[in-house]
Amino acid sequence: MKVQSTTTQQDDHFLISDYDYKSTNIEKNGDKYIAKPQITNFKFKTDTRIPKLGVMLVGWGGNNGTTLTGGILANKFNITWNSKRGTHQPNFYGSLTQSSVIKIGTCNTEEVFIPFKDVLPMVNPCDIVFGGWDISSLNLADAMSRAQVVEYDLQQKLRPYLEKLVPLPSIYYPDFIAANQGDRADNVIPGDNKLEHLNIIRKNIADFKQSNNLDKVILLWTANTERFCVEDPNVHGTAERLMQSIESSHPEISASTIFACAACLEGCSFINGSPQNTIVPGVIELAEKAGVFVAGDDFKTGQTKFKTCLVEYLVGAGIKPKAIISYNHLGNNDGKNLSQESCFKSKERSKKTCVDDILESNRVLYPTEEELNIDHTIVIKYCPETGDSKKAMDEYIAEIFLGGRQTFAVYNVCEDSLLAAPLIMDLLLLCEFFERIQFSKDASEYQRFDTVLSWLSYLMKAPKSESGITTINSLSRQRAMLENLVKVCAGLTIDDNLRLEVRYG
Ligand code: NAD
Repeated sequence: MKVQSTTTQQDDHFLISDYDYKSTNIEKNGDKYIAKPQITNFKFKTDTRIPKLGVMLVGWGGNNGTTLTGGILANKFNITWNSKRGTHQPNFYGSLTQSSVIKIGTCNTEEVFIPFKDVLPMVNPCDIVFGGWDISSLNLADAMSRAQVVEYDLQQKLRPYLEKLVPLPSIYYPDFIAANQGDRADNVIPGDNKLEHLNIIRKNIADFKQSNNLDKVILLWTANTERFCVEDPNVHGTAERLMQSIESSHPEISASTIFACAACLEGCSFINGSPQNTIVPGVIELAEKAGVFVAGDDFKTGQTKFKTCLVEYLVGAGIKPKAIISYNHLGNNDGKNLSQESCFKSKERSKKTCVDDILESNRVLYPTEEELNIDHTIVIKYCPETGDSKKAMDEYIAEIFLGGRQTFAVYNVCEDSLLAAPLIMDLLLLCEFFERIQFSKDASEYQRFDTVLSWLSYLMKAPKSESGITTINSLSRQRAMLENLVKVCAGLTIDDNLRLEVRYG
């Protein structure tokens, strides 16, 4: 696709798009609102050169890590496999960038859609170089068979590729994850000096970058859910205090925070795929100084994605959700880890907050703070027999016209990691893409986006936002935000769905 317009300029390296952003400023005057539409000029400058990207996964030997790595290799080498349902071709279903489309305009009266990945140049996932760490020493072929996610025949076909991949030894702070993980921790960096640990991880990153001749590296935590660290401004509040706390091996510095710091200090963006509070203020300051991004928290895969759709639909229809009861049972290692109360608490928190802003937006349905406090219950049970085929059962009870009740009972069954792997890939590809975008407001100097990459909220269960920016959980708003930004950067018109060109020519 090529955009022909007076508002875009392109050379060999950059695409610059001029965009008049229309918003409405609201002033409150007693009980009246005064709405003042306004226009602000933005320029978006996208570097169209695609870098050689390396990715280091923390928890590489887990269900997500092995499924992602194997899935990409299956696509790269077009590996087919057989099951009782026949022969299967690899695909990227579940990936926003690879398998979803964007409307770019209208041809006569027909709407034209193209793949998300084709609107602007993005890294091809098959070109990513993978590496990473795990506290378990299994090579990725054995780890994939332990995970029991991918069909047996595909596991066998991937074995020659995966058995060569062995995770680096990792940092293991047993106090932060469930005690039941101890039996797999045979690949651990010795000692308890946290500064030494940080330096080893930094060296691993630098070596990986150099030996693979990479332009950039991104780190992503897909290791076990940790308990929340007890956040303290004196320990985690600034970059300086955080570094001092690492030097003194403070007990409330988690392994994930060490990885986040190492990433920032090596000039790499860091993504947290689990719910815990890894990205403490000191990490954000380190990232800011290094000019890299941080994003989190917790992948938004099946149940929560659905929740933020259904609740948005109800509230948008003027129907009042009064209770959401979510049961999960799962039998994979994630479920085993979550069976310890401290780790469950981290997950409960990120699963619970995901509808708050949707409810708060509608003061007709929820005029008081008390009414906003709906029954939202999260239950997670470890049941080994279920394996990675997680079962999620949700009951939504809503109040309708004249005090009536509407109840939805939703049953969601799927391999958890088959949803998570394409989503992790999107996080990586989009994070890399955002590193190539700069903007200028009202002809000011070009700058990069804020350090906390809340643009990725579509993919996160508890999206982290830059301070002062409210979090959006609504799935359609999150997706529209991403799609519109890509279109604006490409110089395309944002779709307001009025379809006037179709109705009136
Ligand atoms: P998993 O237990 O299969 O994999 C985690 C891996 O991390 C294991 O191999 C473990 O050995 C390793 N590990 C633990 N501590 C480590 C450390 N300090 N350093 C390096 N490796 C370490 O879990 P999974 O199913 O792959 O999920 C990974 C994470 O993603 C979990 O926190 C989970 O809650 C989160 N998550 C998963 C989904 C999903 O749909 N699969 C959705 C949202 C969030």
